Amino acid sequence: MTVEIICVGTELLLGNIVNTNAAYLAQKCAAAGLSCYYQSVVGDNAERLKEAIQTAVKRSDIVILSGGLGPTEDDLTKETAAEVMGKKLIMDEASKEAIAGYFKQRGIEATQNNWKQAMIPEEAIVLVNHNGTAPGVIIREDNTHVILLPGPPNELIPMFEESVMPYLNKLEPGVIYSQTVKISGVSESKVETIIVDLIDAQTNPTIATYAKTGEVHIRVTAKADTEKEAKKLIKPMVKELKKRFGNDIYSTEEDITLEKAVVYMLLDMFLIW
Ligand code: ATP
Ligand code: MG
Repeated sequence: MTVEIICVGTELLLGNIVNTNAAYLAQKCAAAGLSCYYQSVVGDNAERLKEAIQTAVKRSDIVILSGGLGPTEDDLTKETAAEVMGKKLIMDEASKEAIAGYFKQRGIEATQNNWKQAMIPEEAIVLVNHNGTAPGVIIREDNTHVILLPGPPNELIPMFEESVMPYLNKLEPGVIYSQTVKISGVSESKVETIIVDLIDAQTNPTIATYAKTGEVHIRVTAKADTEKEAKKLIKPMVKELKKRFGNDIYSTEEDITLEKAVVYMLLDMFLIW
């Protein structure tokens, strides 16, 4: 299945904030086995947002939007997505209560525009927000899924983990798992030449090279029903790469950087470790 990410916010377009939500969502979707072919950023403008959502639902199975679920006039995502999907907004009593509770707990009074956040597109799934007032929303129409998430990462991330990930796992069972073989001292062109037969014959797992500063990574990625099965598919390929690159590989661990590897080698060498 394909997924597309649209991040909403003029401050993103201006470069005032870094679009960390896009990176987070893209990583999670890839790990969930979804193919992400498009990402875009749109300002807080109803017309352009409408156009972006219309385009996205035509070409992708799942569209994830972040931002613009807040209480103010320039928060347009829910209204616009509902319009594109042909859904009316109706007051969701549970969300209204949750918002009232949120303010009561903090001893502050809700303003009239806060109730706008409890307006939910008809027939939509409501995603509870434990860290803010704006609930998330999933609008489903046939085989198209439009998922609306709040912009603040401290709200988006827990909501994604708790509610969106299980939803996506049901739509697309299986996982994508990667392991990176990290090489230093061999150029990317040389690396590719050494493994060109493996690249040409790749199916599952796939392999790809990435040139970094002072090193080259080969990422081996497998898709399977479980992480255990994916790891099993990856293992022989990593073994083959180890055979071909020998000591030019400094690590196959995610958290070992070239700097760390050098420090560990020096510690070993001087027996301080
Ligand atoms: P709020 O209720 O806070 O208005 P919202 O769902 O309307 O939430 P936005 O107004 O679009 O979200 O963004 C609120 C804040 O969330 C931004 O000021 C920014 O700090 C953060 N944020 C929004 N989008 C992103 C993003 N794509 N990446 C990282 N942070 C973001
Ligand atoms: Mg907002």
